[in-house]
Amino acid sequence: MASATSRQFLLIDGDDTLWENNIYFEQAIEAFIDFVGHSTMTREQVRAALDEVERMNVHVHGYGSAAFTKNLQQTYERLAERDVQPQDIEHVMQLGQRIAGQPLTLIPEVAETINYLAGRHDLMLVTKGHPEEQRLKIERSGLESLFTATRSSMRKPSIPTGRSPRSGSSTPLAPG
Ligand SMILES: [Mg+2]
Repeated sequence: MASATSRQFLLIDGDDTLWENNIYFEQAIEAFIDFVGHSTMTREQVRAALDEVERMNVHVHGYGSAAFTKNLQQTYERLAERDVQPQDIEHVMQLGQRIAGQPLTLIPEVAETINYLAGRHDLMLVTKGHPEEQRLKIERSGLESLFTATRSSMRKPSIPTGRSPRSGSSTPLAPG
């Protein structure tokens, strides 16, 4: 046990720090671009259109896979080159919805590291996203008991421009 003077209160991010997150969004985006199959837009242009919809909607839809799913749908409606059928929307929505069903995969050596730190410091898990979705991830991580506290908020204090709202940025939180 560390002495009181060296014991610190550490804020630790969840998505893409403790467990995989962004890879599932990336997979969904690739499948979305395939499905759009645009005749003139490049993959990068379709992706840029999605990024633009996400930026516009972040203050309305917030974060997480449900917000992402709405953004996919809206982007599809903008870009579709044929009459949009209900089954097309259903397919696009499933691409987003299945993200929440992905297994929680801890990043290598995270469990050992958090165990080590928890013996020496007070740890607070701070995640950004839909609170219920984040709560389920924290539970499934198996790490919850090692944290003094956990907090999920719809947004972190600052959102750097140009960053995707899809996953938490690495912006450090100021203490207090
Ligand atoms: Mg993160």
